[in-house]
Amino acid sequence: MNSQPRQREIFSAREKIKMIKHVCWDLDGTLYRPTPQLEKELNALRLKLYAELTNKRENSETWQEYQTLYAELNSHSAIFASLGKPKEYWHSHRNKLKVTTYLESEKRTVEMFKEFSKLNVTHGIFTDNMLVETKKILATMKIPLSIFKYILTIEQVGRPKPSLGGFRKVVELSKVKAEEILFVGDRVYTDLVPAKQLGMQTALVWSDEKYPEADYTFPHVADVLKVFK
Ligand SMILES: [Mg+2]
Repeated sequence: MNSQPRQREIFSAREKIKMIKHVCWDLDGTLYRPTPQLEKELNALRLKLYAELTNKRENSETWQEYQTLYAELNSHSAIFASLGKPKEYWHSHRNKLKVTTYLESEKRTVEMFKEFSKLNVTHGIFTDNMLVETKKILATMKIPLSIFKYILTIEQVGRPKPSLGGFRKVVELSKVKAEEILFVGDRVYTDLVPAKQLGMQTALVWSDEKYPEADYTFPHVADVLKVFK
């Protein structure tokens, strides 16, 4: 078997890693995992709001309909925006659940950012969440704000993910080329597909499944550091 193409592939993967100057992180589901209890509460709230807005009953049929919409739009914020609500609608309701009461700081994630501070890589956050809540979540997770060059939230972008506008803003704020950015997220069609579309490198976290849109896939967010080691 000719080993040439394989060698070329490894070489180019290494070259790609060397190119990374900036890591942009999604927040919810990426820098922390919702507990099963939080996920349950979030789903109940999604159904309640959706049923109210569409004048339907809160039942399994309506929930199925919501899930079909999610499969199409890949974003809870986008579902409510499609019903004529403001782009912040979902997160403004979500944040009333006091998400931080469900969260605990995670040692591995905190350590990862400490290790990152020794590397020549800058960081940013791009989330569909709102700024005040983002800061609360980071404080609860004991992830210092000073790590991030920018925090891009729903208030500053025209439309929720996977809309490309916010991802273009990431390139602008990072002050590097799209291919020098590693975008880290937990959702393939919401985070990775648009990032890849603009030429960013991508990492899918909290997953064991491989996707063509993900350059790297890791079972834990702290594994992202392995890209640089
Ligand atoms: Mg997420």
